[in-house]
Amino acid sequence: MNIHEYQAKELLAKFGVGIPAGIPALTVEEAVAAAKRLPGPLYVVKAQIHAGGRGKGKFKELGPDAKGGVRLAKSIDEVEAFAKEMLGNTLVTIQTGEAGKQVNRLYVTDGVDIAKEYYLSMVVDRATGRVALIVSTEGGMDIEEVAHSTPEKITTIVIDPAEGFMPHHGRAVAFALKLKGDLNKQAQVISKQLYEAFVALDCAMLEINPLVETADGNLLVLDTKMSFDSNALYRHPDVVALRDETEEDPAEIEASKYDLAYIKLDGDIGCMVNGAGLAMATMDIIKLNGMFPANFLDVGGGATTEKVTAAFKIILSDPAVKGILVNIFGGIMKCDVIAEGIIAAAKEVNLSVPLVVRLEGTNVELGKELMAKSGLPIVSADNLGDAAAKIVAEVKKAA
Ligand code: ADP
Ligand code: MG
Repeated sequence: MNIHEYQAKELLAKFGVGIPAGIPALTVEEAVAAAKRLPGPLYVVKAQIHAGGRGKGKFKELGPDAKGGVRLAKSIDEVEAFAKEMLGNTLVTIQTGEAGKQVNRLYVTDGVDIAKEYYLSMVVDRATGRVALIVSTEGGMDIEEVAHSTPEKITTIVIDPAEGFMPHHGRAVAFALKLKGDLNKQAQVISKQLYEAFVALDCAMLEINPLVETADGNLLVLDTKMSFDSNALYRHPDVVALRDETEEDPAEIEASKYDLAYIKLDGDIGCMVNGAGLAMATMDIIKLNGMFPANFLDVGGGATTEKVTAAFKIILSDPAVKGILVNIFGGIMKCDVIAEGIIAAAKEVNLSVPLVVRLEGTNVELGKELMAKSGLPIVSADNLGDAAAKIVAEVKKAA
């Protein structure tokens, strides 16, 4: 789960991390009122969307010459003008995809006199089972380019969670950022505070870009991206309360209502599978046959008619889907019951694309018979390889 920048900053402030003053706003009036409560004379109006690259982003409605989603305002009037430009419009950044994201919230924050921009992030590194703390002297809006062309300018420090953040980790951060004197000490303190927040909040990722050195010699967090380990959210009701459903894929929200694990992908073939392992194998075998899955969808152990129908609707709500492959193992659920669910669902949703079904398990023969007699154009498959080959062939035939 992701949260907005202003929410992440409010969480980090509780750990003592230095952040510029700022106030969220949902309307132009609120943005103006927020600016009036800040010291000025510089303000920054920041679009709050769950995607980075806002500064270099473009608003669809404002043409190619307009500025992006992070604007430096020199007066309250400018804050008002920028808020008007941003609210309700669609910001396209390298992270949003072409569709962009509508800006419904702003964050009005204190303008900071920046001496230098640094980069600092933390992720749970599955390969080492540890927290990777990544820092660079080259922070700011071009970090992707730095990682690509000058990877030597990025330093990774690995922290064993059992050991925790030790003073030498802090010194390593300060050294990598080439900081001296008081700034060196501040880097040690802030990296420890950020690590403590990362662990206490069960973050999956925390990115500070930029972490800035101000003209008057302080280290401040200017931008934050924070995401959480969804398996640990039950421990953080306060974090769950920050969820902004307008930022999430509507199909994924719908899926979560039926307890379906659904993730949209870029391909053409919708998949409905029970069990995450089988879902992964199904996606692999579709790729092996030369096409790409349109989604990951695990209907779980108890694939009821209701769940199967909901799953069909969700898959078909994606206009990219050109065919559906159902791959279900009837272990807890019997295959005939699953077949009935598929038939009922296919009738209800007026299936408009080819459907290949591979069933295996208890009462499989009965299940296949039901599908064959249903009068629906369901193609039955015998195994994983057969199923993938058939759906790819059906989709190509229909094209
Ligand atoms: P994004 O990463 O989505 O583009 P940032 O919050 O990092 O958005 O803002 C982009 C750039 O805008 C920063 O690298 C920084 O140079 C500038 N900026 C952001 N916030 C402030 C601020 N409070 N004061 C001055 N400059 C800022
Ligand atoms: Mg940034």
